[in-house]
Amino acid sequence: TNDQLAKWDRENFFHPSTNLGQFARGEGPQRIVTGGSGVHITDRDGTQLLDGFAGLYCVNVGYGRTEISEAIAKQAHELAYYHAYAGHGSEASITLSKMVMDRAPKNMARVYFGLGGSDANETNIKLIWYYNNILGRPEKKKIISRWRGYHGSGLMTGSLTGLELFHKKFDLPLAQVIHTEAPYYFRRPDLTMSEAQFTAHCVAELEALIEREGPDTIAAFIGEPVLGTGGIVPPPEGYWPAIQEVLDKHDILLVVDEVVTGFGRLGSMFGSDHYGVKPDLITSAKGLTSAYAPLSASIVGQRMWDVLCRGTDEYGVLGHGWTYSAHPIGAAAGIANLELIDKLGLVENAAKTGAYLVSTMREALGDHPNVGEVRGEGMLCAVELVAERDGRRFFDASEGKGAKVVAAMLERGVIARAMPQGDILGFAPPLCLTTEEADKIVSVTRDAVTAILG
Ligand code: PLP
Repeated sequence: TNDQLAKWDRENFFHPSTNLGQFARGEGPQRIVTGGSGVHITDRDGTQLLDGFAGLYCVNVGYGRTEISEAIAKQAHELAYYHAYAGHGSEASITLSKMVMDRAPKNMARVYFGLGGSDANETNIKLIWYYNNILGRPEKKKIISRWRGYHGSGLMTGSLTGLELFHKKFDLPLAQVIHTEAPYYFRRPDLTMSEAQFTAHCVAELEALIEREGPDTIAAFIGEPVLGTGGIVPPPEGYWPAIQEVLDKHDILLVVDEVVTGFGRLGSMFGSDHYGVKPDLITSAKGLTSAYAPLSASIVGQRMWDVLCRGTDEYGVLGHGWTYSAHPIGAAAGIANLELIDKLGLVENAAKTGAYLVSTMREALGDHPNVGEVRGEGMLCAVELVAERDGRRFFDASEGKGAKVVAAMLERGVIARAMPQGDILGFAPPLCLTTEEADKIVSVTRDAVTAILG
């Protein structure tokens, strides 16, 4: 019964990313989800909700796709598991490696499969250190990430994440991680700056940091093509090519974290191609299987791959791998998912319907006195709330305005995400969203904003 499940939940289940006060007060569970179809989920009480955030921006093909669940079942019957150590493989993991590399940017050489975005970033940082050790420069170790970047919540990846919540009380960040300015034009330090001037400012900040620390101590820079959890913020004009130039000048590797953007969310297969950058490493997860099974991919660029292979005689076996690396069930889900993305034209739909979502949201809310900005790229959209537009005055965080609007949207049948820092409503629907469903998201957002803020 519902009552029994609620009791078991309260007594046993330590939920992730949850206010622990909820457990102390004996509250919960929030919602027990039982099914899903297309962009909708259904809970145990029979309530249907339009999921405007695709779970955690991951159910890219939408819910209830039998092509994927049947592929998973078939794989589970035939071979639920064999490991990938020492050159072993399953048909599914080998086939998926080919499919990923066929879609990856041109300069990429190999794919390493893990389980989720955090471990894929962990792999990438370890490969960078390994690479610099092979090259005989062990002091080139620091990693630069951006404030407001999100790269996971492990010890290294939580350090790379540039959000205070992930550091405080955990004694993070680790010493090898340093942060630079977020490319967040709406929150630029000086309102008179043009976008191009702000880009120049971010680049100058990065250069100054590199000079201060010493280029010989810096191994890599990591960033999401579009800042995700930090506020859904597309980069200002010319940002990525300018950053790449600085990194190249100082022989600093580039890790592009495409956990959200990989496999179509920006309306391009990869964000790196979308913004014309050449990564040394790509991190991906979510969209690789549309979250039907856990799987991540660390994609290694040619210049690193050549060096990594060179180290083998001296270093022996690579001391890095998990029991579940390249899990056959995850791989089977990945194959069916990538086939479905192609068959349904979801990358194109992300570009087209995503642009429609952002433009209709802007028409509906762009003039509201408490909406500072409506922004987006592909199937990503954000509405940033402000106390006053003039002078860009923000609400006090304790008022929780963004969370209140999101709660009012939920009452009206649409899930949006209150982004963790600032009063920002986040949208990342499945890539199969239709214009009618986009209209529903927009009208519910407008009604909820009006209900809470007037
Ligand atoms: N990198 C980015 C850009 C993400 O958005 C996330 C998760 O949201 C991660 C890494 C971490 O992925 P995971 O939660 O699968 O460990």
